[in-house]
Amino acid sequence: MSAPMRCPNCGSDVLDVHDYESMIVVTSDHALFTVRCACGTRVSSLRTIPLDMREDVQFAAIEVGAGMGRER
Ligand SMILES: [Zn+2]
Repeated sequence: MSAPMRCPNCGSDVLDVHDYESMIVVTSDHALFTVRCACGTRVSSLRTIPLDMREDVQFAAIEVGAGMGRER
């Protein structure tokens, strides 16, 4: 599951990883997402990569030779 991220500044908990400003892929299904809140605060959190984003992530990883998303 991918629970909403909470902004420590304004308390908003509707930050969506789909709106990420940056994403650092840690494993094939987890990434450190940075999302900018409406109040301007950047919130970073290690999150499960949503299923609907994994295909794009794997494609991007293959493109840059990141060593993930390979067929076994
Ligand atoms: Zn905020």
